[in-house]
Amino acid sequence: MSFVVAIDGPSGTGKGTITKLIAKEMGLLNIDTGAMYRSLALKCLKLGIKSLQEKEKIIEIAKNINIEIQHNAETQEIFLDGENVSTEIRTKEVTAFSSTVSSIPEVREVMVSMQKKMAQNKDIIMEGRDITTVVFPNADVKIYLDASMEERARRRYEENKEKGLQMSYEETLKAMEKRDYDDSHREVGPLKIAGDALVIDTTKLTIEEVKEKIKEIINKSYKQSKD
Ligand code: C5P
Repeated sequence: MSFVVAIDGPSGTGKGTITKLIAKEMGLLNIDTGAMYRSLALKCLKLGIKSLQEKEKIIEIAKNINIEIQHNAETQEIFLDGENVSTEIRTKEVTAFSSTVSSIPEVREVMVSMQKKMAQNKDIIMEGRDITTVVFPNADVKIYLDASMEERARRRYEENKEKGLQMSYEETLKAMEKRDYDDSHREVGPLKIAGDALVIDTTKLTIEEVKEKIKEIINKSYKQSKD
């Protein structure tokens, strides 16, 4: 039987970083579902598809897409049709369009089914927007990470600066507000807090503190599952 840790929350809550660290320290397989929507967005943009007006084409691409997450000792690399796109999927154009493509119910259906398959018979930690509500509503551990809008935008702004991505704080905040709104107002798989998820507000916490908190919760639940 597999052990499933599901983590949801908006961007800038530290989800990605924390999940990666926990996966490594606890020997869980890390599945970044945002990277999958981002890969689809990148493929569409490369084919000149830029809006929901071409919804049918986007669905067709999603049905035939080949996304692989390769796990190395330190890093996780994303391959789209055999090409390493780990960096390319983080641009602001891809970020914005990933939220657009993710609003299409048929796209979500394909992605959710892919995510369930990736997790089969494995001990995993999966992060995204609908993991605790749609993909694994019966996960062993369900966590919702949150933080204030300003703090999340500040974190993303610093992160982008480090990566050399040009974007002012105001632009980052605006883009984030729009994406949060769209992600939590779509009809299928919106970002929301599952009734039985544990909410952690990370505004005033360090990555290390959040990580330790979650590890404690996982350890407790893991022990209970073995009793
Ligand atoms: O987590 P990340 O910022 O990489 O996700 C990019 C976008 O992919 C999100 O804004 C959201 O629209 C979409 N997404 C989703 N469901 C998930 C993960 C991501 O709709 N489980």
